[in-house]
Amino acid sequence: MSTIVANLQDVQARIAVLCGGAQRSAKEVTLVAVSKTFGAQAVGAAHGAGQRQFGENYVQEALAKMEALQALPGLVWHMIGPLQSNKTKDVAEHFDWVHTVDRIKIAQRLSGQRPVHLPPLRVLVQINVDGSPTKAGVLPQDALVLARQVAALPRLALCGLMAMPDANSGAGAFLKARACFDALRAEGLAIDVLSMGMSADMEAAISAGSTLVRVGSAIFGARATQASTNKT
Ligand SMILES: *Cc1c(COP(=O)(O)O)cnc(C)c1O
Repeated sequence: MSTIVANLQDVQARIAVLCGGAQRSAKEVTLVAVSKTFGAQAVGAAHGAGQRQFGENYVQEALAKMEALQALPGLVWHMIGPLQSNKTKDVAEHFDWVHTVDRIKIAQRLSGQRPVHLPPLRVLVQINVDGSPTKAGVLPQDALVLARQVAALPRLALCGLMAMPDANSGAGAFLKARACFDALRAEGLAIDVLSMGMSADMEAAISAGSTLVRVGSAIFGARATQASTNKT
């Protein structure tokens, strides 16, 4: 487990260096540790080193971890995987953030199902900056309409945008996401979170203006292949 602590420190140091190179303050970039496929113990080790924000892709797997870790103070859970309608209730009841809102129906369900005793669920609209039709996310030109609809829902707090460009898309994809983010702000939307950048592409994301990076393998190590992981 001490590997996780060392990796976490390396990633934090790398974020600081990349922010310096981009004339930005390291305080502007939040690190979400993506713990999908790794157990509660791994999350606990990162928590022991001060990490509080964690990202999960699979709802059932995440709920089991939350249950196992309920004694740990201050954990903040981000749902970063594709979201199906039949999972919105569990997400609305147990997560703090959702990064993958890309249609109004999902947003309406999350708002309707968010328990009254919890603060509004923080959400990001996922944008598809590669434009390939098989990818999740709304096209940048459709982001404003969806963002306005989401912002109007009573139990959601629209905080910003999320993008996950293909590995071969290059820096241009991150710049496109940034341009979309700036355009929405210029339209008056009160958003300040731009979630982009993973283990392999943090540099391009941070120089394009990412305010939140979602980093998994650089902290927890390589994941087992998809077939052997719990995808529920
Ligand atoms: C798995 C995942 C990550 C983390 O990817 P790494 O390459 O392990 O850093 C980030 N974002 C999303 C949406 C993911 O599914």
